[in-house]
Amino acid sequence: MSYKKYAVIGNPIAHSRSPEIHLAFAKSCGIDLNYEKIQCEIPDFEKTVKAFQKNGGNGLNITSPFKNRAFLLCDETTVRAQMARAVNAIKFEDDGSTFGDATDGVGLVNDLQNNHQYSIKNKRVLLIGAGGAASSVMGDILDEQPSEIVIANRTIEKALDLESIFEDLGNISVSSFENLDHAFDLIIHATSLSLQNQKPELPECIINQATFLLDMTYNCGVTPIMQWAQSLGASTVIDGEGMLIEQARAAFVFFHLSKS
Ligand code: NAP
Repeated sequence: MSYKKYAVIGNPIAHSRSPEIHLAFAKSCGIDLNYEKIQCEIPDFEKTVKAFQKNGGNGLNITSPFKNRAFLLCDETTVRAQMARAVNAIKFEDDGSTFGDATDGVGLVNDLQNNHQYSIKNKRVLLIGAGGAASSVMGDILDEQPSEIVIANRTIEKALDLESIFEDLGNISVSSFENLDHAFDLIIHATSLSLQNQKPELPECIINQATFLLDMTYNCGVTPIMQWAQSLGASTVIDGEGMLIEQARAAFVFFHLSKS
């Protein structure tokens, strides 16, 4: 029997749960596949992808810090990947071309809508962070028509860059952490600080009893920002596990069940 070959590539990669999630989806769909982890040195990304393809690989998931380089490497990409300027799933086509998709945003929205019955429409949204994960979810959040999105980031220039990419698509503004001055319905924490058991310094006024907070980090238990929001009475506080599974589900559909 010939198994299809998939892998997740990143640096670091040991923590990745993609193999177990994709193998579980494959089992439930009756699809035979191999799925491995590839630890890739920073300069070697493009040549490692090409070598995987040359050795019969069918597709790759891409994680930090390679999502932007994966976008640049693809021959074709989905519209949502073009919006995010990032790719987290690459399919190798029979003619040798590469087709990329970005599924973090749809993963976030599907987790909120399907697993928590939470609609973003008309909500005041605060996005904390302006790195790869934040830029990956902007387009899909805007599709849901929030009343506003405020992007707050330590490096303001990066938040302004993100605002300029998406400014025609909704009511977007930028703030420093300390200048945030009102409560939000939905707060999405997309900095990497939870991985270091830390949180950004934020004013308490951003939380009220209606606030729903999602920390994108997963596998870290209750993180400092989750604890902080809970202590201030936020209505719901979740981590990024559901988003992780939903983005993998969308990538699995892209790999196995959708036409290019
Ligand atoms: P990234 O591209 O490296 O961006 C890091 C972000 O964290 C930037 O906004 C950066 O701000 C901020 N940051 C880092 N150190 C900081 C500090 N000391 N103080 C304040 N801000 C700081 O990382 P990423 O790929 O966006 O990932 C961010 C998080 O999302 C990670 O925890 C990752 O695991 C998680 N994630 C989860 C999923 C999921 O499916 N659940 C998917 C993707 C990512 P500056 O711009 O100022 O440097």
